[in-house]
Amino acid sequence: MPAAFDGRILNFIGGELREPLSREYLDCENPATGEIYAQVPDSGAEDLEVAVSAAHDAAAGWRDLGAERRATIMHKLADLIEARLEEFALAESVDNGKPLSLARAVDIPRSISNIRFFADLGKSFRGQEYTSEKSFSYTLRQPFGVVATISPWNLPLLLFSWKLAPALAAGNCVIAKPSEVTPMTAFLLSKLANEAGFPAGVLNVIHGRGPRIGAAITAHPRIPAVSFTGGTATGRSIYQGAAGLLKKVSLELGGKNPTIVFDDAHHDLSLQGAKMAGFTNQGQICLCGSRILVQQDVYDRFRDEFVAQVKQFSIADPLEETTMMGAMVSKAHMEKVLGYIDLAVQEGGKILTGGQRRVLAGRCANGYFIEPTVIEGLRADCRTNQEEIFGPVVTLMPFKDEEDAIAIANSTQYGLAASIWTENPERARRVAARIDSGIIWVNCWNMRDLRTPFGGMKNSGVGREGGLHAMEFFTEVKTVCQPAA
Ligand code: NAD
Repeated sequence: MPAAFDGRILNFIGGELREPLSREYLDCENPATGEIYAQVPDSGAEDLEVAVSAAHDAAAGWRDLGAERRATIMHKLADLIEARLEEFALAESVDNGKPLSLARAVDIPRSISNIRFFADLGKSFRGQEYTSEKSFSYTLRQPFGVVATISPWNLPLLLFSWKLAPALAAGNCVIAKPSEVTPMTAFLLSKLANEAGFPAGVLNVIHGRGPRIGAAITAHPRIPAVSFTGGTATGRSIYQGAAGLLKKVSLELGGKNPTIVFDDAHHDLSLQGAKMAGFTNQGQICLCGSRILVQQDVYDRFRDEFVAQVKQFSIADPLEETTMMGAMVSKAHMEKVLGYIDLAVQEGGKILTGGQRRVLAGRCANGYFIEPTVIEGLRADCRTNQEEIFGPVVTLMPFKDEEDAIAIANSTQYGLAASIWTENPERARRVAARIDSGIIWVNCWNMRDLRTPFGGMKNSGVGREGGLHAMEFFTEVKTVCQPAA
């Protein structure tokens, strides 16, 4: 457990750490051990009201401070987190169950990069100019004043900062709600806000359950924009809630992503890529490739080697340096994933490896671990291959040719990401153009340039984040037009 932690998480509102007004708390569990190790506020509409007032009081000052000075404060926050990288990584691992090595190498450094990247982008972000014979027009990009972010548990600080940073850089005050399942690193970040130099009310972190405080955020008339990442059903309810107030909403939702391996793919790289895409973070990344489509003439070889390699994964205490797979985020989520494995068997699937809860010895004996699971023999249209499982469970499906691969890839309600493995650049271009996903990787997976648009089609989302897309989301555009000189 992080040394600085005293057992109770608090909201950060108006520059102060505060208890929820109701004094009601929820338990935080360490999913690797099953132990309750902290309490998090179960905040309500009354706490939100205080935060919204504080944010509105601070809005003009933060807007008028200018992008340069906002960037200085944001960089200071990034520096403060970096100086505590080990503390943050440990907190993320304890809260979420992910391997400490992953939090240290990816989650926390990427969160720091998010803050620095948007701090700098804010300095160059501005409107455009349009000239014609008759007129001269320009656009102003202006912050909303107060906006909200709602983020999930799978990449807690990474996704929290991915929304918070552009909102702040664009000149907004923010009400940020992390997942109640993994609130710890957002709390640690909030404790650094004053030292970084954020004026009171600019950055507010409010904790609690989605249906209570999350729904209150969606319904609040003085929060005109909400950026959400989470499940598709939740996204739909936020969209509906926001519609009555005509709020601007960005929705980053679920996925059922294909990994498509052609017979001309680099064998070792595609095996490695399919493993990473399938099982990183215990398969709990929206971008994970949970459907592996393999061209039929290389299918048997690929399957046999893939299964042999997956059997080598070390599932162990997330705090051990060699652990490749840690715990599922909660008991309820573990049970949901195990339920899907049962469903796969009922649907006629054959489990090639895994399929069970893994009980570890020692400290983690009561933790929520699942073996990495590979299943074959299922139709593309069965529930196992259509619904998001969000765990260490992949299916293998053979395909005949490009048309067949594209049809299977596009056969779900989702359209977030895909990876294509081929040594033929023409084929890669052809197939990439026809897959209905917001992000397509060719011979790689989860490689990110923070400037590029990020988001999904179909039931995977509405809108795009990343780079200028996020800055545009968090601003209103105003056109000013005058006669040409
Ligand atoms: P979730 O939808 O249960 O919760 C996400 C957040 O929404 C949490 O903070 C939660 O408290 C809040 N929330 C829940 N109900 C709410 C409501 N009625 N009103 C307002 N807020 C509410 O999702 P989760 O289980 O935390 O995360 C897993 C899901 O997130 C998966 O479906 C995954 O694919 C998706 N995800 C998508 C992306 C992406 O970029 N597309 C990234 C990560 C995760």
